[in-house]
Amino acid sequence: METRKEKRRLHFSVKVMIGLLLGIIAGIAFQWKPDIANTYIKPFGNLYLNAIKMLIVPLVFSSIVMGACGLGDVKKFGRIGLKTMAVYMVTTFFAAAIGVILANLANIGHGLELATGQAVEVSEAPNIIDTIINIIPGNPIKAMADGNMLQIIAFALFIGAGIVMVGKKAQPVMDFFDGFADIMYKITDVIMKFTPYAVFALICPTIASNGMDVLLPLLSFVLVVWFGFLIHLIFVYFTGIKVLVKMGPMKFIKAAWEAIVVSFTTCSSSATLPVTMECGRKLGISLPVRSFTLPLGATVNMDGGAIYQGITAVFVANLFGIHLTISQQIMIVATAVLASVGTAGVAGASIIMLGTVLSSVGLPLEGIAIVAGVDKLIDMPRTSINIIGDLMCSAFVARTEGELDMEAAEAEQGDGDGQL
Ligand code: ASP
Repeated sequence: METRKEKRRLHFSVKVMIGLLLGIIAGIAFQWKPDIANTYIKPFGNLYLNAIKMLIVPLVFSSIVMGACGLGDVKKFGRIGLKTMAVYMVTTFFAAAIGVILANLANIGHGLELATGQAVEVSEAPNIIDTIINIIPGNPIKAMADGNMLQIIAFALFIGAGIVMVGKKAQPVMDFFDGFADIMYKITDVIMKFTPYAVFALICPTIASNGMDVLLPLLSFVLVVWFGFLIHLIFVYFTGIKVLVKMGPMKFIKAAWEAIVVSFTTCSSSATLPVTMECGRKLGISLPVRSFTLPLGATVNMDGGAIYQGITAVFVANLFGIHLTISQQIMIVATAVLASVGTAGVAGASIIMLGTVLSSVGLPLEGIAIVAGVDKLIDMPRTSINIIGDLMCSAFVARTEGELDMEAAEAEQGDGDGQL
C-alpha cells in the first residue's frame, strides 16, 4: 500500500520536473514566434495563477488566525512571532551582505557601457516609515480587497489574539475559521494537481519572449546575481538546515521541491504560498507554526531580493562611476534588509523596492531601468531563494519550539498530494 502511494508521490514530483523541462524546450522552440506561446499557452498558466490567487487572501487570513489560536496563549504567540521575525531578519542581513561583498569582489559594472535609449520608467518606491505605520490597516476590508498582505496579517493576528483572550465565548468564531481554513486547504489540494501542466504553460511563454537577446548585454550582471543566490543557498541555507534544523540539505530541498519549481515559474511568493504550506507539512513543521510563519515569510522575508538589491546597488554605482564608501555600503545592507519587509511577494517587486535602496545612498534611479530588462531572469531564481528562506526559518523556529516532527518529514518525502 505504502509503496504504491510512495510511487504515486514520486511520480507527482517527477511530473512537475517534466513540466518545467518541456516548458523550457517548448519556449526555446517558440522563440521565433513568441506570440503563439503568449496567445495559446500562457492563458492556461494564467488560469492556474488566478485559481491560486483566489485563495491567497482567505487562506492567509484564516490560516494566520488559526496559527495564532493554535499557539494557545498570547505569550507563546508573541514569542514565536518575535523569534520568527528575528530569524527572518538575520538571514536577510546575510543575504544583503553577501550581495554587496560579492559585487565588490566581482567589480561588477566597471567598464560596461551604459545602455542607451531604454525607456526609463522609474516607479516611486514606498517610504519605509510609511510602510511600517501602514502595517495596521485603517480599513481591514479594504486591505483584503487590495490584497495588502502586511495589513491582512496584522488584522489576522489581532483577531487570533482576540479569540485566545476572549476564550470560551469566542469558540464558535474559532470553529468557523478552523473549518474555513480546512476548506481553503482542500481547494488548494485540488488546484495543486494541475501544477505540472501550469508550470509548462508558465515557463514556455517566459522563455519564448525573454530569449538570449535581452540577456546578453547584461550577462555578467545576471551571472553574478545567480552566483550570489548560489552562495547564499550553500553557505547560509545548507549550513542553517544542517546545523539549526538538523536535517540533510538534500532531504530538505526534496521536500521543498514543488514550492521551488512553482515559485520559479510564478515569480511570486504569495502565489506560491499554498504550495509552500504543503511543503512545510512535508518538512514536519506543525500546523500552527507553519500557518503562522510561512504566510509571514511570504510577505516579509525576501533574501533573494536582498542579495539582488545589494549587488545591483554596487553595480549601478560602478556603472555611473560613483565611489561608494564603506558606510554607504553598510547603509545599502541596512536598507535592503528593511526593504525586504516592505517588498510584496509578487513578480518584480524587488525592482520597485530597489528605488529605496538606491536613493538611500543617492544613487541614480535610472539604474532601475538598466537592470529592468533582465529582471524576469533574475526574479525566477530570486523568488525560489525567498521561498527556501521562508521554509528554512520556519523549520528552525518549529524545531526550537519542539514543533518539528522529523519522523513525519522522513515519511513524507516526495509527497505531492497530501493534506496541508
Ligand atoms: N518575486 C519575488 C517574490 O514574490 C519578490 C521579488 O523579489 O521581486 O518573492
